[in-house]
Amino acid sequence: MAAQLLDGRAVSKAMLAELRADVVEFGRVHGRRPTLATVLVGDDPASHTYVRMKVNRCGQVGIQSRRIDLDEKTDTKELCRVIGELSADPEVDGILLQHPVPGHIDERAAFEAIDPGKDVDGVTRTSFAAMAFTEDGFASATPGGIMALLDAYEIPLAGRHAVVIGRSAILGKPMGMLLLGRDATVTYCHSRTANLREHVQRADIVVAAVGVPGLVKGEWVKPGAVVIDAGYADNQGDVDFDTAAQRASYITPVPGGVGPMTIATLLTQTLHAAQHRTTTTTLTH
Ligand code: NAP
Repeated sequence: MAAQLLDGRAVSKAMLAELRADVVEFGRVHGRRPTLATVLVGDDPASHTYVRMKVNRCGQVGIQSRRIDLDEKTDTKELCRVIGELSADPEVDGILLQHPVPGHIDERAAFEAIDPGKDVDGVTRTSFAAMAFTEDGFASATPGGIMALLDAYEIPLAGRHAVVIGRSAILGKPMGMLLLGRDATVTYCHSRTANLREHVQRADIVVAAVGVPGLVKGEWVKPGAVVIDAGYADNQGDVDFDTAAQRASYITPVPGGVGPMTIATLLTQTLHAAQHRTTTTTLTH
């Protein structure tokens, strides 16, 4: 393998160690711990695993978690009511709605029930706008985690051509916006893109955020390109790792690349939400 691994496990471990110290300091100053509420609808085993991992990580860094698991049959109105209560609850700093939610639920409506000040997973329109306008706000957790990983390895972005495959509102689109905000030249690809291979061949940085295992072939990768694989379907990434690693300069493993960075970003943003809420509350009293 020629490429250097972008080791999300190692980088996130360092981030979480720093976060733990900051959480202790927050507790010392404010006499309470930041709290993340997780909301999960239904019985999808993968979603249960993701929520469990997030709750475990909360415990490791001293963030309090409040886990709310709802029945598969929960409708949009009820879900929005539950999220609305958490939004209004002064003891809750951050809210994570585990997605995807069951198909009968209006996911966008549920996301928008999250108070933007508690949107630590970066899924509301307010957070999207902050990323688009390069203003302060919460980044979508996976794109935010990818940016932190690129920065940890000091990978230059300005002037480089980034190809983002995927255009979902919580991953592909914000990923491109964050790269654009750092002066990369961004191309978006999606299921209707003609000649995906040719776009990838021109990329200095490839971010695959699709959910189709092995979609990106190693021979498409420009020698020396940086390859980020956010995909995670059937326990596999979107990139054919073995062949891509022969040509890339840096590449994320799956697992152990993007996933741990997503959680570290979510928890870091939970502390930021708590700090911001405390400051705002103090100022208004
Ligand atoms: P999504 O909403 O299903 O979006 C998938 C995107 O991929 C869509 O924009 C779709 O295009 C595009 N696409 C589908 N087939 C394609 C093809 N053959 N060629 C090019 N583009 C294609 O999924 P998502 O929520 O963004 O998640 C994407 C992947 O990331 C999934 O595997 C998910 O598990 C993973 N993920 C990982 C993390 C993490 O922490 N590691 C977090 C979130 C998601 P259209 O828009 O045209 O349909």
